[in-house]
Amino acid sequence: MSLEIVNFTLGPVLTNAYLIADSETHQAAVIDPAWDGRLILVEAQKRSWQIGQLWYTHAHFDHIGGAAEIAAALNPPPVVALHPADYSLWQAQGGAPFFGFHIDPGPQPSVHLEHDQKLQLGSLIFNVRHTPGHSPGHVVFYCSTESVMFCGDLIFQGSVGRTDLPGGDWLTLTESVLTQVFTLPDTTRLLSGHGPETTVGEEKAFNPFVGGL
Ligand SMILES: [Zn+2]
Ligand SMILES: [Zn+2]
Repeated sequence: MSLEIVNFTLGPVLTNAYLIADSETHQAAVIDPAWDGRLILVEAQKRSWQIGQLWYTHAHFDHIGGAAEIAAALNPPPVVALHPADYSLWQAQGGAPFFGFHIDPGPQPSVHLEHDQKLQLGSLIFNVRHTPGHSPGHVVFYCSTESVMFCGDLIFQGSVGRTDLPGGDWLTLTESVLTQVFTLPDTTRLLSGHGPETTVGEEKAFNPFVGGL
């Protein structure tokens, strides 16, 4: 078994969407279907991957803007997983109107994520970690056997998620990074919601906001 990852950078604020699959079973999920769902669908079809789940790190509009297009093309419709503390944000189109956008948020979340929950994709297991600070219901998805974490807008290469939007809090974000990210092995890959891939060790050493703490 192994995890395959296809990265897309999409939408008005260049958000990373990750199409992931178990290479043996071809079962696939989309972590943050950011924008242009059609492009993600085409890639999945090309690889004969079956998208069955949409996992949201959080409900900001730039992370869910492609969900409706993906869901409309799938039968059965995909399962949608979100932490309940971001549900009101999801209902408010992820804050899109605040930034002058309109999005269709797609199907209702039906899996209510909680800390330490296990999500399964084929034979792969992902651990859900609640990491508030950027938004109240922000989570990250960690696959220990593959040494990879999908960390949304919690931490980026050399930066961290903004905390000035509704529900954001700086100290909470810092605490989430220290307890849920910096406790992992240094070689763990961090795949963020914006910008390039990094590692735990690199951010511990060089991140000017949370490094060296
Ligand atoms: Zn965000
Ligand atoms: Zn974002």
